[in-house]
Amino acid sequence: MSRSYLSLGSNLGNREENLTHAIRMLEDVEQIRVEKTSSIYQTEPVGYSNQPDFLNMVVRIDTELSPEQLLDETQKIESELGRVRALRFGPRTMDVDIILFENEKRKDEKLTIPHPRMWERAFVMIPLLEIFENTSNEVFECETVRLYSDIHSGSNRGKLSEKPENK
Ligand code: AMP
Repeated sequence: MSRSYLSLGSNLGNREENLTHAIRMLEDVEQIRVEKTSSIYQTEPVGYSNQPDFLNMVVRIDTELSPEQLLDETQKIESELGRVRALRFGPRTMDVDIILFENEKRKDEKLTIPHPRMWERAFVMIPLLEIFENTSNEVFECETVRLYSDIHSGSNRGKLSEKPENK
């Protein structure tokens, strides 16, 4: 059984209903158990800004699927909920990203885990930290992600100095 975190976002149609629908569809997959859900956040679109605000949330699941099988299932949910891929960062009924999958680290043409843009996206990090913070035995994971987030956001917290040269 693997623990994974998914980011859900919607900015077309009935956004809240789309999120609820996606969670129901995840629960309908035999090998997926939805363990926790964050609050829903309304956020400004990133990238292509001339589009409606998004509703975003993060869910924690336990799954017997492999990362590839999980991607197949999340893509099925995206297409069943009518996602139109006209613009890469454009409006969408449902976007599901795999944020973390156990301690998996990979980068291939189909799948990058942890999700490569999670660190710079408040709409991912804030609901993710909300789930971590409500679960005391995830303090370590929480601190690790917070540190990564500081480093990747370019803030001067987290990383004290560049690696000394010639060391
Ligand atoms: P996007 O349109 O930004 O949702 O990107 C979808 C594409 O990103 C899909 O074709 C996936 O194969 C690829 N992808 C790479 N890493 C991930 C990930 N961690 N979660 C979801 N999709 C991913």
